[in-house]
Amino acid sequence: MAEIKIQYLEVDLTTGTSKVVDATALAKQYFGGWGLGTKLMWDQMPKGMDALDPNAVVFVGCGPVSGLVGSKTCIAHKSPLTNWAGESSLSGDFAWEMVSAGYNAGILLKGKAPKLSYLYVYDDKVEVRDATALKGKWMRETEETIQSQLNKETGEIFSVIVNGPAGENLVRIANVTTQYIHSGSKCGPGASFGAKNLKAIAVKGKKGPTYADHKAVNDLWMSYATSPVTALHRTGESRWGHYRSLQGCLRHVVDPFKNAHGSYNDFPDINEGYSFHLMNLRHTQWPIACHGCAAACFMPYVRRDERGTFAGEYRHGNSAGQGANLLLPGWSLCETSAIIDEVGLEGEESGCLVAWAIDLYDAKIISQADCDGLIPKYGDLDFAVEFHKKIALRQGKAANAMAEGFYRAMKVFGDASIPYAWHVQGQARPRYDARHKVGGNGLSNATACGAGSALNDSLTICNFAITPFSTIMGGNNAVAQKFWNAATGQNISTTDINNIVRRNELLGRCYSLREGFDITKDYDLPPRAFSEPIKDRYGNSWVWTRDEFEAAKKSRFTTTMGLTDKGLPKEAELNTLGLGFCVDTLKPMGLVG
Ligand code: SF4
Repeated sequence: MAEIKIQYLEVDLTTGTSKVVDATALAKQYFGGWGLGTKLMWDQMPKGMDALDPNAVVFVGCGPVSGLVGSKTCIAHKSPLTNWAGESSLSGDFAWEMVSAGYNAGILLKGKAPKLSYLYVYDDKVEVRDATALKGKWMRETEETIQSQLNKETGEIFSVIVNGPAGENLVRIANVTTQYIHSGSKCGPGASFGAKNLKAIAVKGKKGPTYADHKAVNDLWMSYATSPVTALHRTGESRWGHYRSLQGCLRHVVDPFKNAHGSYNDFPDINEGYSFHLMNLRHTQWPIACHGCAAACFMPYVRRDERGTFAGEYRHGNSAGQGANLLLPGWSLCETSAIIDEVGLEGEESGCLVAWAIDLYDAKIISQADCDGLIPKYGDLDFAVEFHKKIALRQGKAANAMAEGFYRAMKVFGDASIPYAWHVQGQARPRYDARHKVGGNGLSNATACGAGSALNDSLTICNFAITPFSTIMGGNNAVAQKFWNAATGQNISTTDINNIVRRNELLGRCYSLREGFDITKDYDLPPRAFSEPIKDRYGNSWVWTRDEFEAAKKSRFTTTMGLTDKGLPKEAELNTLGLGFCVDTLKPMGLVG
């Protein structure tokens, strides 16, 4: 069976020129998406280059198997929020269109367009087009306008990733979206697009996809689509969406209330409003699927009431950031989720920043004047909606500081603001309370070092869609191996997969270390994780002692993660995996073990 080429489209936005780059050899080392994108960043962005530098590269990645095990577009970029390795993945059909247009590794963006522009890709036709008429437009209108113009021009329906006002304003927690509700959330991709004067990317592919063995690919997919396991999956995740997990998380204190000051027992009335059964009865909801996914987990809604008509999607991240965290009832998520997907904010970050603003106001660290006339208050939906907009538009001292994310805003508000900030490594973590040592993610968050799921985000397949596949085929690596080999004509082994996954994990960590991740400060939890206990609904109290945390962290580094006890990669392993170039850079910095 002949191998197919794996290639990406490289676009220089400054000059409007483009070329196709053969990435087959690199894909054998890194797959695509997160892994390949991080390698391209390492090679093409000099150490210390600002994330918003016009010459920064942004990789809108996919892979030859995108759209077969769910569909993900994984944006690898230097995060404007952290300055480390950043990754933001979007569901929806965009990756499928890139594969169908012949770019089965994605699109690499370089340079900066001279004026606000969108990238047009229709198979081999690539143009950087004027988007100045869309300046400041909200995301839904932007997507509709571009799609409708291109439909009139070509008769086709393009997939479009759009940037919102927040991204145009270089807000460091700005997201990008496609199909209105699929959000590339984490690490500020909207700001990365904004720094390139990029309002949107529109892609239509009529050529592909090209597989080495189309029948084998089809047989694999059909084994999933027709399996009883898939049918069973549909009664859970895909019947109720990810929102399904929220109520349980709130009750078991893995999702916090009121900026992580309280829990279910403190606010039972708020919790009761988060029933997904209740939400389904009150609002129209229906499951939809990304391209090629039989799981169909997405759960859009429409709500009409005296406040207006709102449409969007319940995402667990939005729910945790903006719901109980702001002491808002479940139904209000219809409005807060809709607004952030219009102005272009990441829901966990923005929700936690808004909660932080309320605490800072109550502690008299910021004033009404700092909030551009608004009075911060828990349980006040009007305040929450308006302050989100102010962050996106950088209106007022407090919102403008928060548009920079936790770490930079702390410098504006001073040391007194730090204990109120609920973050890990400068990023909001409203889900899975860091203090809960069983159900929380405190240790895994504190020991992370840059984003990205080394297998799924590099293959650009979906974490949720892979579950039933995995049951049928005997594990995630088996799924990866079968699909990759059928699609590409390569013959990778399970050992190859293990090596690729580990290589990608370590490369992401090395990239973040190269760019300033500080192992003495950043492997940590916020002060309140050590000083403010939280109770679960059973009366158990959860908080870390410093000694206990340091011991648990060391153990995780050395036993689970294969790192030194300080959280550094080991030189011998880097060399074995072909990451000697990381050793060359990091060893003189004292950052390999
Ligand atoms: S499981 Fe959900 S997010 Fe994943 S590909 Fe399917 S519909 Fe999309």
